[in-house]
Amino acid sequence: MGKEMPLLKLKNVSKFYYNKGLVATGFTRVNLDFNLGEFVVITGESGSGKSTLLNVLSGLDSYEEGELYINGEETSHYNESDFEHYRKTYIGNIFQTFNLVSSYTVYQNIELVLLLNGFKKHEVHDKIIDLIEKVDLSKFKNTRVSKLSGGQKQRVAIARALAKDTPIIIADEPTGNLDSKSAKSIIKLLSEIAKDKLVVVVTHNYDQVEKYATRKIEMHDGKVREDISLKEYNKSNITLNEYKDIRFINKVLLGIRNTFNIVPKFVLMFLVFLFIIVAFLGEYSVFKNLAEEEAKSGYSAFFRDISATRIVIKKSNGSYFTNEDFNAITTLEEVQRIEKDDILLDTSYDLNNNEYYVWGKLENVNSIDSVDVGRLPENDNEVVVKGYEYDYYLINYEELFNQELNIYDDYGDIIATNQKLKVVGIIYHDDYDDDTIYVTDKVLNQARLLTNKRFAELTIGINGHYEKVDGYSSYMSLIPSKNVEKGTALIHTDLSHLCKNMNCYDNLVDIKIKNLYYEESLEVNIKNTFNKDNFKKLTEFDNYDDYYGTIFISYDDYNELYNKYTFQSSVFANEASDVDKLATKLEDLGFYTLKIKDSLYNYNEGIAQIINIFKIIVTIVLFIVLFFITYFVIKLIQKSKNVYYSTVRILGGSKKVIKKLISIELYTVYHLTFFLFMLLTILVNTNIISNGFIAAITSNLGIREFVVIYLILLLMSMLLSWTYSRKLFKSSAMRAYREEV
Ligand code: ADP
Ligand code: MG
Repeated sequence: MGKEMPLLKLKNVSKFYYNKGLVATGFTRVNLDFNLGEFVVITGESGSGKSTLLNVLSGLDSYEEGELYINGEETSHYNESDFEHYRKTYIGNIFQTFNLVSSYTVYQNIELVLLLNGFKKHEVHDKIIDLIEKVDLSKFKNTRVSKLSGGQKQRVAIARALAKDTPIIIADEPTGNLDSKSAKSIIKLLSEIAKDKLVVVVTHNYDQVEKYATRKIEMHDGKVREDISLKEYNKSNITLNEYKDIRFINKVLLGIRNTFNIVPKFVLMFLVFLFIIVAFLGEYSVFKNLAEEEAKSGYSAFFRDISATRIVIKKSNGSYFTNEDFNAITTLEEVQRIEKDDILLDTSYDLNNNEYYVWGKLENVNSIDSVDVGRLPENDNEVVVKGYEYDYYLINYEELFNQELNIYDDYGDIIATNQKLKVVGIIYHDDYDDDTIYVTDKVLNQARLLTNKRFAELTIGINGHYEKVDGYSSYMSLIPSKNVEKGTALIHTDLSHLCKNMNCYDNLVDIKIKNLYYEESLEVNIKNTFNKDNFKKLTEFDNYDDYYGTIFISYDDYNELYNKYTFQSSVFANEASDVDKLATKLEDLGFYTLKIKDSLYNYNEGIAQIINIFKIIVTIVLFIVLFFITYFVIKLIQKSKNVYYSTVRILGGSKKVIKKLISIELYTVYHLTFFLFMLLTILVNTNIISNGFIAAITSNLGIREFVVIYLILLLMSMLLSWTYSRKLFKSSAMRAYREEV
């Protein structure tokens, strides 16, 4: 280069402002050169274009005409990121309004610009301390900027501009907000740093600057009116620092610092995220309860007791249950109780004498230890009834207590007991499905025999003549009697024709039964026959006519046939949500399982599908609504931070960096909220803390639900930081700053 190029050169540069169709002139056709070592003072009345000129020189605003040369390079083709780079490497700005981060300390404000320029935190420490000393603020190193006086603030701004170590310092009325004493010392400070830099200062107060300035420019009405050299300056050579991008770790550091440095803002954001979590969980648990209610509303042709907690089990090898089996099941923690004879659960019984009528499933009286009225049974013929609290018979219990009742199964067959039954106690409840008749072992045993007999196929052979007994077409029947001895049979005299010479004495009766699970056979010896005359003497029964074709055997033998083993039982889980886990454990122990909730036929399948679609729609709407609520709230909260982000931008932070800073801040708050909430959930659900509301919305949450909520929040935070930073960068750095201050 023959002739040395000036550091900055304006050639016929004009700047216009376009505002809603109106054009305002910032300045017109300005020609100026600036060199390193100069200390330039710009004066002029308000509105003459000084600030506009500085903003164009700083690359904070664009220009419309002419050419700005930076170090000899044309800039008319520059885009936003070229200017970002220019600001970063060339310019240190000082403003009348300081543009500091007031929630940061002095140290942190200076540190900010260095971290943005890619320095490591530890390598800048000494430099910052030096700079703070240089501007005489050592005592205030860790003081928040909001607590400083105007003069002190401007010192921080100068230290920050120096920290960047750029060849150009541009100061727009740096003393405008200061008293004259502070103003004096600021100008002095600026003059000291001007030695090997280009310093351009706009001021109203020329007198204060006069003795340091090397040149004076006076603006008037958007034009340069006067440009005079005041004294010689030392020309020096330019040294440019190439700055890197901010390090990842420092982005995280700043993001976290920004999260917590304004406490009320943090609390508000925390509450917003908490609100989102609670809203989603609330919706989730409402739908989950709906689905559970739905599942319960199923119907089964096979099972009367359709409790969601019930699991029907059989041994997978087809054999009967042993005590060891039941013991092993009892040790499982999800087990509430075992119903060994579960067939009783699925049969309804009723107690009646044609006038009084109570119904329910049968259960052993051992399973209760108190009643609401009356007392617990003391004899085999006494029972307790559990029924609906508004049931007519149960409200007028005194009359009921006086009745003698028979117990029938749902085929209308009477359960054989020697005596009529009496109700002695009542338990009230508010759920129709829970009706129960509590009886003693003896009645239960008879009920079981009746049921087993109903579900078994019986074949009787006398002297080799076999007959399938089905209760309707056959004339034979098998009934236990107290008066018959084990191993023997008492038969109706009309059956004698099956035997030789019509004499059956000592002939064998071969009895075979076969049911779903097992086959059993028994041989007994006929020791007697009965007829109308001796019937009452030989049996304990009354009505001879009802016992045509009957073969009486002993209770022992009868039990041997029908009441031998348990092949099917039911296990009840503590909670409906435990059922799947419990079923898996039972299968591991070698049982076949059938979860009642899975066996239900649901005639509302259409409704279930509608609920599912509805659920998706509600979730999407909720997401959108929450997104906007959150967006506006966060925007309001973040508004205070607009100054911060435009400051970062003025310092040379790129859109990418700012977006990252915003998202880190959001992520920090939301992770904190999320994990605190999770902790709270665990504490509540392990009963360390008690809170009904949290318990209600979290009781059926698993890992999966937490992952879903986590992902929804993540998505929301991403969207928020994306939309927010996009808005921030819609306008130029200066405009964004002006608009928000
Ligand atoms: P100074 O700093 O010398 O007081 P400015 O550079 O701020 O003057 O303003 C110069 C001219 O540009 C004024 O006429 C002012 O009205 C106009 N101007 C400055 N900023 C804007 C803006 N953002 N929008 C429209 N006009 C503006
Ligand atoms: Mg101005």
